[in-house]
Formats: sequence, C-alpha cells, structure tokens
Amino acid sequence: MPSLFVSHGAPTFAIEPGLAGPQLQDLGARLPRPKAVLVMSPHWITPGVQVSTSAAPETVHDFGGFPSELYTLQYPAPGSPEVGRRALELLNAEGWNAVEAPHQGLDHGAWVPVRHLYPDATIPVLQVSMPRGLDAAGAVRMGRALAPLADEGVLVVGSGSITHNLYEVKWEPAPTAEAYATEFTDWARSAVQQRDETGLVNYLSVAPHARRAHPTPDHYLPLPFAFGASAPDAVTRVIDGGTTHGVLAMDAYLFGQAA
Ligand code: ZN
Repeated sequence: MPSLFVSHGAPTFAIEPGLAGPQLQDLGARLPRPKAVLVMSPHWITPGVQVSTSAAPETVHDFGGFPSELYTLQYPAPGSPEVGRRALELLNAEGWNAVEAPHQGLDHGAWVPVRHLYPDATIPVLQVSMPRGLDAAGAVRMGRALAPLADEGVLVVGSGSITHNLYEVKWEPAPTAEAYATEFTDWARSAVQQRDETGLVNYLSVAPHARRAHPTPDHYLPLPFAFGASAPDAVTRVIDGGTTHGVLAMDAYLFGQAA
C-alpha cells in the first residue's frame, strides 16, 4: 500500500471539489482497497501522541462561519479499534508513548479529503494526533514508525496543505495564485520526487518563501509524516490540485504505485 499526502485546503473543499477532488476520487478507485485509512491532521493536536480507537467516530465540524450546508455533511465511516491498537504498538515500540483516544471523532482535516477518496464511507478511518512541538524530523520518524502498516493493508495519510497562510486567504471568486505559493509548491514537488529527506526536514532554511507559505508548521508536517510512512524506494506521483483562495495550494503526493 502506498502512503499519501493530501492538501485539505479550506473546509469548503468538502462542497467545492475543484481540481483536486475528482483526482482524489479517481485515485481512491484505483488504489488497492485498504483495510483502513489512518490520517494525521493538524486539526487534532495533543500534548503527546494519541490514536483514535472509536468503532464509530463522529463527523466533527471543527470550523466556524462557513455555509450551513457544510455542517449537515456526515461521513459515517466506521473506525478500526484493531488497527488503532496496532498503530499504538508500532508507535510505542519506537518510544512515542502513544495512548488511545476512544471517543475521538474525525476532524475536517481527515473526513473532508477522505470523503473525496472514498465517497461510500465503507472503509474504516482512524486518526493519529499531531503531538504539540512536533518538528519535521519528528514527523518523518512518526511516519517511519507506522510504515509497517502499509504491508498490513493500511493507507497512511498525512493531511495538511502544501501552502497555508491563512492571513492571505482570498475569498473572492477565482483569485490568481500568489507567485510565492507556486514557488514553494514547485520546490515541494521537486523535493518529494527526488526523495530529498534532508530538504523536507530543513524546509525552513532551504525552501523558497517557507515562512510565508507556512507561518506555523502544523499544515506542513503531514507531508514529512506521509513521506516517512512510505517505502524507501517508493516512486512519487504528483497530483496537481491547483491553488485555491490565491494561497492554498492543493497538491497531493502519492508515495508508491496505484493501479
Ligand atoms: Zn486545515
């Protein structure tokens, strides 16, 4: 099973699929059917690492001020306590001191993109939290700890945003993409295609406009996480999702092969 990085953009990505949504749906149809989908999202940050083990996670609408339609959407995928316990075992074997979160639902960083991948909501979905203070090297290590899940049929997903400066988001229809966001995205594409782990870890010093593209690291870290979860010889496929709201690039990167 490959691993996957997805950009989840604004919560409105749920009802405005744009360029990325149909490509994710196509990808979901062509990937081997996973036993479960395990997502890291920046919308679940905890003091240490937690893994959700609910058998029936609720759809969490963890955003405010959006169209009412968004709050009625449900993604009733089952959870997977079994895969959750396996993830805990793998993380703790690598010293992460992870604990289970039996009542955690699915935040919008998880259910919005997974709903594009698997509209039927029949594949179990669970989450691993982002521990507070995580850096890019730690994100790679977390992904690597969970990499054995791929051989067990689990799709490991890092859900963030390839650029994410909320101070600059534009809400007018079809704004032009900011040049700096495109430059950062071009760098990210090249880094993942070359499997440049050093670059991905040291993005703040080597990537163009890194601090403007990511004023905080939370939406970047799912990228090194998904990279860490992939096989060392995985070929990277870039899914060009374009740029929404002028500054939210929507790329997805598949590490490994789909049919
Ligand atoms: Zn987000």
